[in-house]
Amino acid sequence: MTTQSKRSSAIVRVALPLPLRRTFDYLVDDTMPLPTVGMRVLVPVRQRSLVGVVTAISVEPSVNLSKLRTVIQVIDQIPTIPATLLKILLWASEYYHHPVGEVLHAAMPSALRRSRDLMPELPRVFRLTAAGQEALATVPIRARVQRQLLARCHLEHGLEESALREGIPHVHAPLRRLLARGWISAESAYPLVRAARAPAIDLGTDQQRAVDAMVAESVRFTPFLLHGVTGSGKTEVYLRAAAAVIARHKQVLVLVPEIALTPQFIARIENTVGGRLVVLHSQMSAGERHRAWWAASAGLADVVLGTRLAVLAPFKALGLVIVDEEHDLSYKQQDGFRYHARDVAVKRAQLAQVPVVLGSATPSLESIANVHRGRYQLLSLPERAGGAQMPRVRLLDLSAMPAAEGLSPPVVKALARRLDRGEQSILYVNRRGFAPVVGCSACGWQGRCGRCDAALTLHRRSGVLRCHHCGAVEPALDHCPQCHGGDVYHVGEGTQRIEEAVQRLFPEARVMRFDSDRIKGGEHMAADLQRVRDGAVDILVGTQLLSKGHDFPAVTLVCVLSADRGLYATDFRSSERLFQQLTQVSGRAGRAQRPGEVLIQTLYPTLPTYEYLTRHDFDGFASAALDERKLASCPPYRRFVLLRAESPHLEMPLEFLRQVRQIGERRLREQPHTGVVLLDAVPSPMERRAGRYRAQLLVSGRGRAALHSFLSVWLSDIESLRRARTVRWSVDVDPQEMY
Ligand code: ADP
Ligand code: ZN
Ligand code: ZN
Repeated sequence: MTTQSKRSSAIVRVALPLPLRRTFDYLVDDTMPLPTVGMRVLVPVRQRSLVGVVTAISVEPSVNLSKLRTVIQVIDQIPTIPATLLKILLWASEYYHHPVGEVLHAAMPSALRRSRDLMPELPRVFRLTAAGQEALATVPIRARVQRQLLARCHLEHGLEESALREGIPHVHAPLRRLLARGWISAESAYPLVRAARAPAIDLGTDQQRAVDAMVAESVRFTPFLLHGVTGSGKTEVYLRAAAAVIARHKQVLVLVPEIALTPQFIARIENTVGGRLVVLHSQMSAGERHRAWWAASAGLADVVLGTRLAVLAPFKALGLVIVDEEHDLSYKQQDGFRYHARDVAVKRAQLAQVPVVLGSATPSLESIANVHRGRYQLLSLPERAGGAQMPRVRLLDLSAMPAAEGLSPPVVKALARRLDRGEQSILYVNRRGFAPVVGCSACGWQGRCGRCDAALTLHRRSGVLRCHHCGAVEPALDHCPQCHGGDVYHVGEGTQRIEEAVQRLFPEARVMRFDSDRIKGGEHMAADLQRVRDGAVDILVGTQLLSKGHDFPAVTLVCVLSADRGLYATDFRSSERLFQQLTQVSGRAGRAQRPGEVLIQTLYPTLPTYEYLTRHDFDGFASAALDERKLASCPPYRRFVLLRAESPHLEMPLEFLRQVRQIGERRLREQPHTGVVLLDAVPSPMERRAGRYRAQLLVSGRGRAALHSFLSVWLSDIESLRRARTVRWSVDVDPQEMY
């Protein structure tokens, strides 16, 4: 740092982690280095001190200079939030109408939210030296630990301390001795994944065309929609484009919907790209996240691969943004800072003037509309890669055939055939547990949650009735809790019931259940997925957890047991989601040499959605769905904003939103012709959840500018209401779920 010349006090604008839609001004006195934008400062807030980020600097003394408090400490020497990141975070704060301090806070790893050094402490990596190589044979047998450590370093080049020490007690002294003798070396390094490139597969014509298009537009904002059928080799396209960008010394951001997909991606990135990679997701330890942040920020990582929150990572030289499965709901944060990572990714690419690729077999209708409007460039992969065929999709009319325990005869027959041939099958069931409805036929009792407007699901294995909305648990009894009779019935099939039924039908089969009850945390899931790929499983019974992007080459049969459930949803996106889910899960069938078959059990086989599905006609589906959206004035033809309120008191949320609506109507009369429409405040579709009553108010607008300028005014009106402090309320811009 250069020494500061004497200057008068400066004023900095600071974003603080407080639920307030504003920044705060502080003085920097002349004893301190003047911070730059993006640096962290420690500032006094009432009786506490908080870490904030400088968002602007002005040397002009402001009017009420005397009231300003002084910065306690300038924490950073270089900005924690680089200018390019700050720009997108400020944009997101404005677009989602979320407090700027909380947006910055959400982006930063927890170590940086405190006043920890921007540069993380690095783990030590150990290697065998040449001297150590020679010593290997001469270390005496009794120096057991030393020999063990040397052997580990010999087997693997570059071991992190935790891996080196694992399972070895009293490791400290022997390790020090080996280091002192120069037999192993230790250096601090980033845990970056790096690997040699494998011989490349020959791309198909469509794949090559897609890669060429992406790589040609390397220094301009160009949004692409890569629409490729399941198994068309989209991943291969991303990786090739990434490799080209890395060769130009630029960084690549890759977003995936699921943590569980990262190992699969890492392996493929290693093979194709050969760059240095860091992973970023919400389940990493604080230290890991801090190191990944720095590696991305300092340009040490070529690829940042992660889930939703990776879109908020810093980059030194971003060159390409990739969003895999761009339609996926998990890109939308459903509480707090409710951003949509795909949409932020597009904006980010625009600010950075780089290409962005949104890929999917079932793109969101928003993205399709953007293609129609000429905003996104469409790249199509209409065929499966490597000569694989699309699976044959057949509808099974449940009204015309029995289905004991949810399995119709054609499904049972198809399963038997796969078992004979040693091929794998997937049974897709979209609810977990044993049975979703429990009741008593003698007295009419029904198992319902005491805190939600919802039925309890029987989880027979654990002997409980569980609410899938609030997690409440009650014991599952053999008799009715009301009349104590024994006429308790269980209706409907969850994954556990299907698992048991399949195991009874095929005692020899190796059945694996795959749902969130069984899979807790990403690692377990990765291990299970590996078992499937290793062929240690014959039949997989799972929820939509299964449908996302997994590549199981030996699966040739996919059965959807209860497709219709998605039809009853109240959301205007329900048919889009159903089509996406079924296409994605169907896409797990027959991805390699052997052809795939998909069986869908339904009570409504003539429904157009199912017909489009059997014909693999995404375009037909999308254009019909878009027509409906237009008629119904729904997105992508209108913009939605949802205000939600909740409280333990029945009337309060609705009363609050009614008042809010009145204020909004008044504002709209002052500024007419905005195209903004306020609907009535209504109870949420599930009014009571976890003991709280909920209501919502939908706002719809034509143009973005008018809607957002209205929102800014309206939200500050709402914030000043006394009632706003008696309920919990939130704003959701572009809501993905309408409850
Ligand atoms: P998607 O992401 O579109 O579902 P993937 O990229 O996972 O598809 O590719 C599906 C399968 O096809 C993978 O096993 C992949 O290795 C293989 N594949 C991709 N491109 C080619 C190609 N050009 N030739 C042969 N096989 C390919
Ligand atoms: Zn009863
Ligand atoms: Zn509940």
